[in-house]
Amino acid sequence: MGRPRKILRPAPEPADLSSPEVRIDQLTGGRVLVAPGRAGRPDDFTAGDWRPSTGEGCPFCEGNESATPPETEAERPDSGEANGPGWVSRTVPNLYPAVSRPEGEADDPEAVRKLPDRAGAESSAFSSPADPLLASGRGSEPDMFASRPAVGAHEVIINSPEHVASIADLDDAALAAAARAWRSRMRAHQDSAYVQLILNQGPASGASLEHSHAQLGAMEFVPPAVARERERVGAYRERTAGASLLGEILREEIRRGDRLVAIDDEVALVCPWASRHPYEMRLIPRRPIARFEEDEGGVEMLGRAVRALTGLFGDPCQLNLWVRTAPRGVEHFHWHLDLIPRLEPASAFEMATGVDINIVTPESAAETLRDAL
Ligand SMILES: [Zn+2]
Repeated sequence: MGRPRKILRPAPEPADLSSPEVRIDQLTGGRVLVAPGRAGRPDDFTAGDWRPSTGEGCPFCEGNESATPPETEAERPDSGEANGPGWVSRTVPNLYPAVSRPEGEADDPEAVRKLPDRAGAESSAFSSPADPLLASGRGSEPDMFASRPAVGAHEVIINSPEHVASIADLDDAALAAAARAWRSRMRAHQDSAYVQLILNQGPASGASLEHSHAQLGAMEFVPPAVARERERVGAYRERTAGASLLGEILREEIRRGDRLVAIDDEVALVCPWASRHPYEMRLIPRRPIARFEEDEGGVEMLGRAVRALTGLFGDPCQLNLWVRTAPRGVEHFHWHLDLIPRLEPASAFEMATGVDINIVTPESAAETLRDAL
């Protein structure tokens, strides 16, 4: 494991934006308006008081295994019966899945890929990130109302047998066990077009159960944001005869230092140039490893990051976390993990445009977070 290092280089003064700025995300091409407001110090955010319960009757607590569907996987260090106690992490199917394998449906991914679309279009329109209206196999009759069964898997990975509401409350060993389970389940679904690992923490983040858990969506399509990143990473690699786009960004972030929060031998933690949200952080492996699930690093730094957010925004801190890993069949990619404290709900501007307004510059966020870490 990498030993955390204090950043010794004196950080440049944070950019004091006198007027708002449009920034382009290097990985996705997305735009962000960085418009520092009067609010912006950690104390200015009132994320809403969240007081988790003691866990009475919680279906995710150890001992209540019968309250969930039968487990898909669990880690039991001292062996023990499936669907009984003694686990450190436990995966169960989501009771209300966003994607699912229909009853009686073939378990063969090839067969799933060949499922007919309800509009009668070629399946390729759905397995590709392209707009199905434009990508229709029947050029003369575009699919105005395209749909097909949302095939895949939606799993809940319970991070701890104890009723903890925040991953900041997991010690390094417990967080490592949780991350091991995330990675193991992602590998289990490596035949899917894309596997999305997310974690919601707190009611404002979208979590419906407070007992800490991650969720995995294994899908038969590559979400557009991921596809854009894959395309940009691939194009950059071609243009530069083999360089990793995120690797080059990271090298420059380390050199500049003003958005760098922390670094160790395995990973670096930065506030991204085009951060969409205040105090957003990105955890980046220092070597360009394509898949999160095939790496082991970053867990210690993740623990430091969530504990810093807890120190700044309240215990427990409401947050969203997600992993971006290589889609199926993509060899050249650079995984990263994104983490945002959930400080404010989305406004109509963001919904209308897909462009976020961030009222805290990533440079000043990084300065605050460096001190908190
Ligand atoms: Zn619980």
